[in-house]
Amino acid sequence: MADTESKAPSNFIQTIIEEDLKAGKNDGRVATRFPPEPNGYLHIGHAKSICLNFGLAQTYNGTCNLRFDDTNPTKEEVEYVDAIKEDVRWLGFDWQDREHYASDYFDQLYDLAVRLIKEGKAYVDSLSADEIRQYRGTLTEPGRNSPHRNRSVEENLDLFERMRNGEFEDGRHVLRAKIDMAHPNMLMRDPTLYRIRKAAHHRTGDRWCIYPMYDFTHCLSDAIECITHSICTLEFENNRALYDWVLDQLAMPCRPRQYEFARLNLTYTVLSKRKLIQLVQEGHVSGWDDPRMPTISGIRRRGYTPESIRTFCERIGVAKANSIVDVALLEHTIREDLNRRAPRMMAVLRPLKVTIKNYPEGRTEMLTAVNNPEDAAMGTRQVPFSRTLYIEREDFMEDPPKKYFRLAPGREVRLRYAYFITCTQVIKDPRSGDIVELRCTYDPATRGGDAPDGRKVKATLHWVSAEHAVPGQVRLYDRLFVKPDPDEREDGKTFIDFLNPDSLDVLDDCRLEPELAEAKPGAIFQFERLGYFCADSKLSSRDHLVFNRTVTLRDAWAKIAGNK
Ligand code: ATP
Ligand code: MG
Repeated sequence: MADTESKAPSNFIQTIIEEDLKAGKNDGRVATRFPPEPNGYLHIGHAKSICLNFGLAQTYNGTCNLRFDDTNPTKEEVEYVDAIKEDVRWLGFDWQDREHYASDYFDQLYDLAVRLIKEGKAYVDSLSADEIRQYRGTLTEPGRNSPHRNRSVEENLDLFERMRNGEFEDGRHVLRAKIDMAHPNMLMRDPTLYRIRKAAHHRTGDRWCIYPMYDFTHCLSDAIECITHSICTLEFENNRALYDWVLDQLAMPCRPRQYEFARLNLTYTVLSKRKLIQLVQEGHVSGWDDPRMPTISGIRRRGYTPESIRTFCERIGVAKANSIVDVALLEHTIREDLNRRAPRMMAVLRPLKVTIKNYPEGRTEMLTAVNNPEDAAMGTRQVPFSRTLYIEREDFMEDPPKKYFRLAPGREVRLRYAYFITCTQVIKDPRSGDIVELRCTYDPATRGGDAPDGRKVKATLHWVSAEHAVPGQVRLYDRLFVKPDPDEREDGKTFIDFLNPDSLDVLDDCRLEPELAEAKPGAIFQFERLGYFCADSKLSSRDHLVFNRTVTLRDAWAKIAGNK
């Protein structure tokens, strides 16, 4: 798939790679990796990184590793590892046999740390965490050397080995790089390389009680795997100096380079695992795969397709400056995709009974409906029509305002694929006054088309036949937050205060076109006039149909962008 020779690079990272290739760097190899920490489920921000890293490998005939950055035993779980693999696969990417774990390198990393100690470039410090913080200085003041900074190599080696052997409690000692306590980059002020953490690890069990820190592990894992371009998000820009320092000191055979790009931020949601965990743990959502969550498993269950996510990631591009992407663009992208592929169906979410007085009792006729006007190859289907129907409650108004063109007393409208009907009578519950039924007449001459006399109607309604329709539950999802940036600081409030109380509306008495009884979990449809809906992969069965609204039909993005 090295098809870019002729194409201009589509982002600054491609430009860098192409220059490297031209200069003959890395023997013409391109090797990237996606390095999740298995401490939560992946979200759509991770999808950007996945598409970028795996995409670069595809474009340049290279490789992309899946590497679990599993150096924190207390926050990581096998459940997360499995979910991450499922999500990357679902997005359409394949790491083949290149599944790696930073924990596989613990022996090697330990040996490399010992090498640094022997070369006088690392020392064991015995200050407490608080003291270390105090000694570090500030952005405007240099730090101070720890009193333990000049321990002899022998003493350091002995202490480090005893740390490994479990002789000390958590926090008693750490291993630090010996760089410069006055360095303008605070991360370079003798950063911690190893800490004691007496906790079982999901892969190495109790074999270790010291664990390497991210900055030490990450660059060396890249070097061990011979990664050429190590791509991460902007917040690691300051870590690059340390990345380079470690690799330079240890002169590893492969020398990866780090490049930073802007992380994805989306309006009306949060993209931080810590916050997503909080939403799950405090029960604000039903789980990691709640269809309102921006997790990959959530948007999958909501009905998003992998193609639409990949297209979205292409559209937002890869830049060096942080920005917030309008979620309307994501919604626009899924609409575009589903418009092309989703079969149309009719479903009535809030049913209102309609009796066609002049239609023979007991008769059923089959009418032809188009499966997808965007794709003739998807063909047609037969929809049953009879004397008793359901239409949408909001498609009738007894006393309609001026711009309301749908059904009203005395007014004629079209029923999609069927006939023109005219409302002749409104039946109300004598006690509550609620409208419970409409009596109408139909014009047999309008079957599946226009009136022979040329008279026009201003509205077309969807409907189902009462006797043939299947019942089902429809879950209307909306944005999880009411504020475009829920993280924005406001006095005494947190993002939790901006949860949208109406983000889920469950409708239990919906009537669906009979064919929907066969909908397989995960199958996606356009319910005409209402939006795109998918059969819930967890809750829907033949006996109890449950559909999630993926997205409405109203395209805010197309309006903003003026491109439709
Ligand atoms: P979070 O901030 O959500 O906790 P993280 O950076 O801690 O995310 P990791 O598991 O370390 O999560 O992320 C794996 C990779 O995905 C990293 O390379 C990280 O830079 C990238 N990544 C994480 N969030 C985003 C995002 N919003 N946009 C683009 N890339 C992201
Ligand atoms: Mg991280």
